Amino acid sequence: MQITGYKSHGVAASVAVVNAVTSAGGDDSEGALREILRECEFRWQEFEPRHAGPFREWGRTLRGFFEATELTAAVDLLNGLLLATPMHPHLADHEDPAGLHMHYAPPSADLAHRFQATTLMKLSELVCMYGLSRTGVCAADGCDRVYADTSRAGRRRFCSETCANRTNVAAFRARKREG
Ligand SMILES: [Zn+2]
Ligand SMILES: [Zn+2]
Repeated sequence: MQITGYKSHGVAASVAVVNAVTSAGGDDSEGALREILRECEFRWQEFEPRHAGPFREWGRTLRGFFEATELTAAVDLLNGLLLATPMHPHLADHEDPAGLHMHYAPPSADLAHRFQATTLMKLSELVCMYGLSRTGVCAADGCDRVYADTSRAGRRRFCSETCANRTNVAAFRARKREG
């Protein structure tokens, strides 16, 4: 399954919104939220200030998924949200971005609702394929950002190269002190 790429940016978008809203250094300003939508190829042009509230709330909600350590807890969370989010799957092909793709929310749904539906569906597909092995909270000391591992190997435990390197350097120094 492709979990990156245009047809399934929902996973990357989930990570970005959770980190923007809930991490210590996150920026959940209207401009930052609009930028996430643009990068993840949602229809950012439709973003209005009134959407910021629902996006921030959604980021806080989805954090629970990334923090879950038991699969049953993650599944319960997703199932609750899937039932609470009106869905009406259909094919869409609009100018920007172009190409046939699935929309999960009803055609009349606004941007925030569509974002919720798409991120939920993509996280659900991910969990069906990989359980919780591809998602989590960064393992670096003092970092509270979440990640989703889209690599083939699937061994990622950090939100970024920066956190991975910082942790490796610290471990190396600790070993040296002991040795
Ligand atoms: Zn679309
Ligand atoms: Zn990190």
